Amino acid sequence: MIRPLFLAISVCILAAFAKTTSAQSVEDDRPLVVSTASIFADMAKVIGGNVIRVESIVPLGGDPHTFEPTPEAAKLVTTADLILRNGLTFEGWLNELIRYSGTTAPVTLITKGIEPLGSVTYEGSEDPHAWMNAANGLVYAKNIYRALSLTFPEYSDQFEFNYRLYRSDIEQLDAWIRDTVSIIPESQRVLITSHDAFQYFGAAYGLRLEAILGTSTDADAQTSDVARVIKLIVESKVPSVFIETTVNPKLIRQIADDTGARIGGSLFSDSLGDEDSPASTYLDMLRFNTRTIVTALSGTSSQLSADDGFEKEEGSIPLLVGTLLAVFALGFIIMFRYGQK
Ligand SMILES: [Zn+2]
Repeated sequence: MIRPLFLAISVCILAAFAKTTSAQSVEDDRPLVVSTASIFADMAKVIGGNVIRVESIVPLGGDPHTFEPTPEAAKLVTTADLILRNGLTFEGWLNELIRYSGTTAPVTLITKGIEPLGSVTYEGSEDPHAWMNAANGLVYAKNIYRALSLTFPEYSDQFEFNYRLYRSDIEQLDAWIRDTVSIIPESQRVLITSHDAFQYFGAAYGLRLEAILGTSTDADAQTSDVARVIKLIVESKVPSVFIETTVNPKLIRQIADDTGARIGGSLFSDSLGDEDSPASTYLDMLRFNTRTIVTALSGTSSQLSADDGFEKEEGSIPLLVGTLLAVFALGFIIMFRYGQK
């Protein structure tokens, strides 16, 4: 009796593993959704669930402003069933990539309905970083949900279910960011970064923003920009300045050295971090940035980490793997002990 039971359990477990492996690597025939940056890919993964495959053209840690299309990027665009773009001058290289790929996939502008901000630093230039305001994140989510439902209507019920849950998470996060930023004393609500990526964050949550570079990173800093930022730090007694994970930190470190301001931390602006980082999803990125900014500008780290109610959930996948290993081990023990008889 014991051996057939063990075999049945083993076959079930192996079938589950085989299914996962084949879906990931061997042949994946799910529809392919391609986004320009990892932040939007994460949104599409949450709403699309496991019935679609999502890839980002700019790899994790890459800078979409200065990205130069690769053969891999061309392949993604050619094989895409749906392409998601931010617009607002974010991914100027995409038009050419689409033109030469010959793709017929629909291209969705996921910032549709968002009122764009202009760059404070550079007149006449639109700020692409609209995702930094969680209320705008709701618009991104709605646009992605609609595009997925239109393109793959057979899965629209699943998309709607995922979208509703996601919307609720984003709304909750938006309220948390507002409350958390309010901890910073008003006179210290000045956020200084390398490039002008946080205007939407500042406008939504009440911070003044200054950056050395404009809304893109593809230009060199001018001496006048450095002088402007140094003057502000000295005059307003700004305690901390911030580097960004996708921008060379040399200049901001130099300014910190010259003024005595601290480096308040490293913020995620144009790319998520890898899965081991504290910013591996869009929601975690906003949470992490908020914690980092508020801690550095107000010095309330203990209060933040204890009370924010947004601690990362313990992963369910390690738990599942652990359980499966335990079942395997038990199975082998039983087989070894009883199989000899
Ligand atoms: Zn940027």
